[in-house]
Amino acid sequence: MKIGIMGGTFDPIHIGHLLLGEFAYEDFGLHEIWFLPNGNPPHKQQDEDQDALSHRVEMIRRAIKGVPYFKLCLHEAKATEHSYTYKTMRELNALYPEDDFYFILGADSLFSIEEWKYFREIFPTCTILAAMRDDKDVTDMREKILGLEQKYWAKIRILQAPLLEISSTTLRKRAAMGRSIYYMVPDAVAEYIKKYDLYR
Ligand code: ATP
Ligand code: MG
Repeated sequence: MKIGIMGGTFDPIHIGHLLLGEFAYEDFGLHEIWFLPNGNPPHKQQDEDQDALSHRVEMIRRAIKGVPYFKLCLHEAKATEHSYTYKTMRELNALYPEDDFYFILGADSLFSIEEWKYFREIFPTCTILAAMRDDKDVTDMREKILGLEQKYWAKIRILQAPLLEISSTTLRKRAAMGRSIYYMVPDAVAEYIKKYDLYR
C-alpha cells in the first residue's frame, strides 16, 4: 500500500490539514492517509499537558470520522520519549515493510526541514509531498526542492492543493477572542472546542 503520513501538532486540526490529505490521496493514488499527531515533549508531562494531547487526538478522531481512508496514527502520541520524524519514519518502515510512505507537509515545514533533528535520515524513508503555503510560490518551491534533491538525494513532489490562509495559531487566537471558527474546522471540531472551552 501507498500510505500518506500527515504529521503535525493539530492544535487544532483544520481544513488546511484535511485538504492536504484529500488531495494527496487523490493525486498520488494513495491508499490511506494517516494523521500523526506529535506527542508531548519530555518537559511537558503535567496533567494539563496530557489533557491537551488527548484533546488534540480527540479532535482528529472527530474530523476524520466516516472517511474510510483517513486514519489516526498514535505512534508518536503514545511514545513516552520525544519523537523525531526521522525515527518515526524509520519505525513505520520497519513495522510495515510492504508499504511505501509519503510524508505530507506544507511549505513552511519544507523550508525548515534542514533544522529538524537528523533530517537527512528522513529522505530514504519516504517520498515527500510538499504543498504551497503563505508567501512561498511555485518558483520558490521548485528551487528549494531541487536543492534538497541534489544535496540529500531526497524524493520530493509538489502537492497541488487550494491555498488556504488558515493556521492552528489563528484558530486558537480566534477561539480565545470568542470569534467564530466555523467552516475553518469541521463542525464536529468547532463543537468540541466550544464544549470543552478550549483556547480560552
Ligand atoms: P500552528 O499555527 O500551531 O503551527 P499549523 O496550522 O501550522 O499550526 P501544524 O500542526 O503545525 O498546523 O501543521 C502540520 C502540517 O500541516 C505542517 O507541515 C504544515 O506546514 C501543514 N499545514 C498546516 N496548515 C496548512 C495550510 N493552511 N496550508 C498548507 N499546509 C498547511
Ligand atoms: Mg505549524
